[in-house]
Amino acid sequence: MPRYPVEVPATAPAALTGLLDILRCPSCGASLQESERALRCANRHTFDLARAGYVSLLAGSGAISGDDDEMARARERFLTTGAYSPLLEAIGDLAAGTVPQLAAQSPVAAGGAPRTSAPTILDAGCGPGYYLAGLLDRFPAARGLGFDTSARSLRFAARAHARAAVYSGDVFAPFPLVDSSVDLLLDVFAPRQPEEFARVLRPSGRLVVVRPAGEHLAELRDLIPAMVSVDPHKEERLHTALDPFFDVLEQRVVRYQLPLDPQRIRDLVAMTPSARHVEVADLDHLLARAPQDDSGSSQLAGGSAPVPFHVTVSVLISAHRPR
Ligand SMILES: [Zn+2]
Repeated sequence: MPRYPVEVPATAPAALTGLLDILRCPSCGASLQESERALRCANRHTFDLARAGYVSLLAGSGAISGDDDEMARARERFLTTGAYSPLLEAIGDLAAGTVPQLAAQSPVAAGGAPRTSAPTILDAGCGPGYYLAGLLDRFPAARGLGFDTSARSLRFAARAHARAAVYSGDVFAPFPLVDSSVDLLLDVFAPRQPEEFARVLRPSGRLVVVRPAGEHLAELRDLIPAMVSVDPHKEERLHTALDPFFDVLEQRVVRYQLPLDPQRIRDLVAMTPSARHVEVADLDHLLARAPQDDSGSSQLAGGSAPVPFHVTVSVLISAHRPR
């Protein structure tokens, strides 16, 4: 008989243990160590490692909301089609131009733990980890950390990249991170907490904020009333919120036409908080009324023919320097 349990406890992913230098206990602020499938502090606060490879660093009740299963799967499916790859490229360009330390160091040795001096990318509200993984591909010396409230999304994010670790955490709570530890803080279509963003960024670090512009997905919103339009005052509120902590360095607009097939339309709708409860039958009915192509035979809802339907992707990307 074996003397030890047959099921060997999983250990923390190397990417996660490689980030323990900047992670802190969300309950007391002490440093964390890995032990028995959990991260623990000296004051005996324990944070379990999920089998999927992320750690829960929610203090207090641990109640979370965020993307549900259907929403997380739709987001993962949609992003892996490359529909937003021009956006990822533009984010990478802006990061490369404003955070030179990302590209300044030699790559992390294959199979080895990231050096503690490796430049660090933090993705707030990382979803399935698409942007974080894409930036780590582009910056081979960097290590990545993402957090989200959605356990479903974190399952995808935990395996998105070998140099990325993820934890479940709330953007509106204090971040379980040391001061001045992040080189690039990414916020893509996610909520923001400017004060915590400023605290965890190094003085040389940069915040990159990505949000929809007014005409983003306008054609789809015309079709589907449940998709709420972009609040015209959103931009003003963003700058008011960031202004006490950050200066704007640079701003870009990414705008292109995106062809959509029926599955991508359904995923886009399912990804949208205001519209994710639109029933499939209702959606098919709405799509059947979509603009037809020159031959007059719209097959949008049927999915068997080339789809003559494009939406405008229009997104603002800005880089900010801590004051
Ligand atoms: Zn603690």
